[in-house]
This record gives sequence, structure tokens and C-alpha cells, in this order.
Amino acid sequence: MYASVAARLLANAEALNMVESVGNVARHRRVPIIVPREEGYSLIYAPSVSGECLANAYQRHIVELAGIEKLPVCESCKKGFFIKHGVLEAIRDVAQDWEKPLVEKKIKNPEEVEKLILENCIVEDICGFLLPEEIPAKRTSKFKVSFMVPTFDAVEQLALESQFHVRYAPDPELHRIYYVEIGSVLYALQMSLEVDEIGRPTMLAKEQVLEKGDRLKRIEVAVKAMASMLENRIFGARLSRINPISEVRSILVAVSTPLPFTVTPPHGREYMKTTAARADAFKKLINGEEIKLFAYDNEKAAEGIAGIQKCDTISSLFSEVLSYIKEKT
Ligand SMILES: [Zn+2]
Repeated sequence: MYASVAARLLANAEALNMVESVGNVARHRRVPIIVPREEGYSLIYAPSVSGECLANAYQRHIVELAGIEKLPVCESCKKGFFIKHGVLEAIRDVAQDWEKPLVEKKIKNPEEVEKLILENCIVEDICGFLLPEEIPAKRTSKFKVSFMVPTFDAVEQLALESQFHVRYAPDPELHRIYYVEIGSVLYALQMSLEVDEIGRPTMLAKEQVLEKGDRLKRIEVAVKAMASMLENRIFGARLSRINPISEVRSILVAVSTPLPFTVTPPHGREYMKTTAARADAFKKLINGEEIKLFAYDNEKAAEGIAGIQKCDTISSLFSEVLSYIKEKT
């Protein structure tokens, strides 16, 4: 089972992802994007927020939720250091009992490494890890996320401006001026979750490590972490002084089984209509394929479209998604 999520997020006065300081100017991250035009394409460099930035926030939300549900999280992930056993030196002196065989390099079998970490850290179960040791062991992330980039339908209405600030001091000699680049953008964002893979080792030929009830609890946390991110819009940097005035304009979620089906990129409000038509066609093509669509719509994107379950709030949207996933798991 696969859950695909696309969202359109309007952020005014944001500095969610800065890349470098040049002198006293902190620059906003930019990416090149290709925009289709009536004839041909044009290249623009536009403000963006990286997938790493969003994944970091997602993992922090998992840690919070795992605490509530009393699910295991390793000490590094708990502190927000998502090194995920990639540098064993970093945990040598603070390793918990279960981590000692890893640090002492007593486990030579990558399958056993995956099983051990999966059982003891839900962050690494959902978001993967890589141990670049003599015999490398890895688990690919079951959560995937895009960069946030401007939507095509609002790409002409975005702005990036350096804002002047002064740290004022009694002695004028100690005044410090600095600039922060601030953007106002309608962003597109995509995420996905390989639901069936959560709580299951990938290297041990589908061996069951966790009970079904425990797997469901982890799936619940994985879905709720996406909900919490979008419902509260707590992600990105510089929130202490440049917390954007932001709102989610719409979200579409597709839950599919047995093959993955992804939502159309939300570059225009018609993405819901396009996704619904694609879902119908894909179901006809693949025997036994089931696809269920759920939407939160604050911009009349889902109006008059059949086959989409509409929800009034972001939290109720993800509650419905979760109920459907549990019913099908
Ligand atoms: Zn961990």
C-alpha cells in the first residue's frame, strides 16, 4: 500500500531555508525550475525549501508522536541528531545496550543490522539509515519528500527581497546591520509513504519482525507526522523571527494498493481533476488496483469532481486516510 500526498502552501514573508551568508546577507535557497509556456519552456531561478529541511521536520514530528505512543526511538534521534548510526564514532561513548554490538562491530550480517535498528528506532524504520561500514548496511527511507518549489500557476507572482535589519547597541560602533532574504511564494509540495514497508525489514525477504498491532501503531505515527506538519506548518528555519504567515490552500492524498499510484504535481488547481481521471484510467489498466482519493480544499480545486472524498480540515483528512489504511492493512 502506498500513500501519495500533494499540497499547495501559500507562505508570505518566509525564510524557511537559507543556504549561505555572503558578508552580512543571509541568502534564501533557490533552485532552477523549468516552466512550460504556451510555446516552449523557460528557465527561472526561484525560491525553494529543500527536501532535507522538510524531512528533518518530519522526523522531529515522528519523535514527538513516538513519545506519546511510547514507541522506541534511539537516543540520537530523540535529540534531533539524525545521524542514524551512520557515524558509529558519534555514539561510541553513549551507546545503549542494544547498540553495543553495532559499535563494537560484532554484527557482520547487514540483515541483522537492519532488524536490530528497525526494532529499536521508529525514525530509522520509517526514514531509513546507512551504515557505511566494511560490510555496509542500509534501509531506504519509506518516507519520500520533494523540495517545495513555486507552483506554475503562481510563478509570475512570487518575490524574494533582502530585508534590512540592525542589531542596535548603546555604542554606535557596535551597531550591526544585516540582511535576510525573504520570500513570498505559493509553493507545491509532494510527499509519499510506502505503508506496507513500515515495520518490515527489506533485506530479510519480508520476514515479520513486529506484530501486526505494533506495525499499525508505527504506520499511525508515520501518517500523523505528515498531518501534524501540514496542520501546524511547523517546519523550516528562522521561525523565531520570520515565522511565515502561511496557509495550506489544498491537499490531495491518494492511497493505492497493490501498485503505487501518485498524485499529479499540484502546479495548478486542476491537479485534483487530473489525478481523479488518471486514477480511473490506472484502475482500468491494472487488475485489482484500488485507489482512494481524499482532499482538503480551500481553493475550490475539488468542486464538482466525483470520486474524491472531501474533508473539512487537514486533521480530519488524515484521520480518514488513516482509517482507510487500517481497514485495508
Ligand atoms: Zn534513531
